[in-house]
Parts: sequence; structure tokens; C-alpha cells
Amino acid sequence: MTDPASAPSAAPTTHAADPDCIFCKIVAGRIPSRKVHEDEHVLAFHDIAPWAPVHFLIIPKLHIPTLYDAADPRHQALLGHMLGLAPRLATSLGVVNGFRSLINTGPDGHQEVGHLHLHVMGGPRPWARG
Ligand code: 5GP
Ligand code: ZN
Repeated sequence: MTDPASAPSAAPTTHAADPDCIFCKIVAGRIPSRKVHEDEHVLAFHDIAPWAPVHFLIIPKLHIPTLYDAADPRHQALLGHMLGLAPRLATSLGVVNGFRSLINTGPDGHQEVGHLHLHVMGGPRPWARG
């Protein structure tokens, strides 16, 4: 059986950390975060301005700016790993009745942080947003 944490075996070798990127700084531990999960390929942490009782972000450790930059077949395992973690981590945080998962891409997608991230939002409604 494949260990999900090591699934993206064909991880890209480019996408070096960007010293000006806030999420690269979180990956490096230079900005603190409330960590939900960490493995070789991804980090998950609580959003600083949550829309829902549970709102965390799953990010690749590599600096991949947007989903446009993850369209190459070599990224498929990484993207699948991120999506597969969403229900597992939501459940581990007590989410029992479903969740929203969201990737904002580019200016018209209202992406504010230029490092690919998957929002996962859940918990009892009403929510602050969304
Ligand atoms: P976007 O609009 O780019 O899809 O979402 C970026 C998200 O990152 C926002 O929900 C915002 O609250 C969150 N965020 C921005 N800066 C930080 C930070 O320094 N720490 C954490 N934990 N979340 C952040
Ligand atoms: Zn980055």
C-alpha cells in the first residue's frame, strides 16, 4: 500500500522558495502558523482570518505560484495529495457535515497570496463568510 504522505514521488525539482513569499516564510518557519499537518511535500495550517469555524490552507512546500503553474503532469501527484488530505484533515479537526474546498487563481480569481493554496472550510453554520 502506498503511504499517502509519500505519494507525490515525481515532485517537481523547480519552484525554489521565494524569499518575499509569505507562505514560503511559513514553510521555512520564519513566520509562525498554527500547523494542522506537515509531510515531505505539503504543509497545512489554520487561516489567519477564518471564514468558517474550521478554515485551514493546504500548500505545497515548493513555491508554485498558482494553479496555472501546476498544470504539468509532473504536478498531478502533488495536487492529488493535497485534495486527498482535505477530507482527512477536516475530519481530524472535527468537521462532520461536509466542507468547502477552494483554490483561488490569479487576479480575477481573487488570489491574494501568490503561492498555491487549497482552502478547506467547514464546521457548523452560520459562517463569517462563504
Ligand atoms: P487567497 O485570497 O489568496 O485565496 O487566500 C489567502 C488566504 O491566506 C486568506 O484567507 C488569508 O486570510 C490567508 N493568510 C494571509 N496571510 C496569512 C498568514 O500570514 N498566516 C495565515 N495563517 N494565513 C494567512
Ligand atoms: Zn511561496
